[in-house]
Amino acid sequence: MSTLADNFERVEARIVAACQRSGRARADVELVAVSKLHPARAIEEAYAVGQRHFGENYAQELRDKHEALAHLRGVRWHAIGPLQPKNAKYVARAAHFFHALERLDVAHELSRRRTGDALDCFVEVKLSGEATKAGIAPDDLGAFIASVKALPNLNVVGLMGMPPADLEANQARPYFARLASLARAHGLSKLSMGMTGDFEVAIEEGATHLRVGTALFGPRSETA
Ligand SMILES: *Cc1c(COP(=O)(O)O)cnc(C)c1O
Repeated sequence: MSTLADNFERVEARIVAACQRSGRARADVELVAVSKLHPARAIEEAYAVGQRHFGENYAQELRDKHEALAHLRGVRWHAIGPLQPKNAKYVARAAHFFHALERLDVAHELSRRRTGDALDCFVEVKLSGEATKAGIAPDDLGAFIASVKALPNLNVVGLMGMPPADLEANQARPYFARLASLARAHGLSKLSMGMTGDFEVAIEEGATHLRVGTALFGPRSETA
């Protein structure tokens, strides 16, 4: 059985190799360890092997872990899941980054609730026609970004997007390339893309923030 430390070592080696293949600096790619539905103890273990950036999907779970793990200095919390206005206060208080901004009412609530440093936000883009997929349609991106930029306490730093579920890694490539091209078109430098199944391809297509859960923490039960 592999330990958490082994998992982090293996993922790190794959990130380094993908950076080398694509002529990118390792320092330009941040690994966000997605710890949703895993206990706080797993985050402490990951912290002990040097991990600092953690991703959580559920606002209340983020709130609770942020509080329980306040003793871990230098942790950076990434809220990565869909958010309702009523839960925006938890993200505004606990998160350093929000990866799934796609509603103006949520943006207003985050802006209103945020104190201290501005919250760095990725706008989520709908990359496929799947009805279930969240995100702003590419054609509406300019107007959405402009509206968010007008709000205090939020920075739009980049775009986030997910290819349709269950694709082979290489089939995800055109979706990542599209997201990268949209980010360029809108003058944004950060790209949150790539998960356990496709993070190497995401690096090759310009990802700056990988959101990797299963490869690091193992399988999770899909209930909050
Ligand atoms: C759960 C989740 C991830 C991590 O997925 P893995 O396949 O376990 O790496 C990344 N991004 C989002 C938005 C998620 O919900």
